[in-house]
Amino acid sequence: MKKLALVLTVALGACATAPDSQGPRVKVTPLGSHDGEFCPFDRALVFEDPDGTRILYDPGRTVRGPDDPRLGKIDAVLLSHVHGDHLGDIIQPAANAGACPKPDFSVNVTPNSNMVNISLAKQAPMIVGGEMHSFFQAKVKSLGGDPNKLVRLVRFGAQTTVGKVMVASVPAVHSNGLPPAFLPKEQAAALGAAGLTAYVGPPGGFVLRFSNGLTAYLSGDTGITAEQDLVVRGHYKANMVVMNIGGFPFTTGPAEAAYVVNDLVKPNSVIASHANEPATVNGKLVETSRTAAFRRTARMPVHVPLSGRTMEFDGSGRCASGC
Ligand SMILES: [Zn+2]
Repeated sequence: MKKLALVLTVALGACATAPDSQGPRVKVTPLGSHDGEFCPFDRALVFEDPDGTRILYDPGRTVRGPDDPRLGKIDAVLLSHVHGDHLGDIIQPAANAGACPKPDFSVNVTPNSNMVNISLAKQAPMIVGGEMHSFFQAKVKSLGGDPNKLVRLVRFGAQTTVGKVMVASVPAVHSNGLPPAFLPKEQAAALGAAGLTAYVGPPGGFVLRFSNGLTAYLSGDTGITAEQDLVVRGHYKANMVVMNIGGFPFTTGPAEAAYVVNDLVKPNSVIASHANEPATVNGKLVETSRTAAFRRTARMPVHVPLSGRTMEFDGSGRCASGC
């Protein structure tokens, strides 16, 4: 009897931790500045649902415009907030330009922004919260696009769907001033001279629920918030997290981010994000990096988003391949 109990325990334990090797998977592909590395400005990820829906999150500086061949078909673009490293003020002239610690972002894409250029070219709606929608509607209109088609507002508490993917807006506690560079010249000059940004409402994060059950929390730029416990885990039951670990002086660093995943959201796996450091050399994690410190402290698998390497997640939030 004792032996049977032991066998059962071991079998159940295995079921609880092993990824589902048979079920449908969501593909997650990081679009960073340097192939096979995790570099300081890497934020962008493409999520692909088993139904083929492809969602781009925070294109930032490392997606090389709408013609970047890594994009392929894009059905929607999510933006957490309007800072230049997420909306995209400058981009790389070519793949791997510059070095991972200091990428070459010599192509200026203001005042349009990288995201708006991508949304227009792909005819993919951007999904934004706060009061960002009215700014983007005006910008899309000025560039000849259809603001009703290309700009979708989703504020905290609300959700929308893209294909079979549910996209919910959750809070981030950060800042969300629009840098003057995205404004017309006269306005930019006046605000810039006063050291001010333009108000576009609060920043946010997202929860995505895919058709296989994978429920991913994308933290955006944030500190520790009570909603990570009450809403992200409590209500949405996120089982995977894309977590900002960048630290001082902007957002959660490795210790705070570890608290968020260990004690608040408690997912089955995590993708580290927004490291603000060259976290890898030749695709290997640098042991003295913030990313490595986070990985040591987190109590679940932490995956390093190597640019161009596709990771596949099962419905329980575990990485089934590519990690
Ligand atoms: Zn940022």
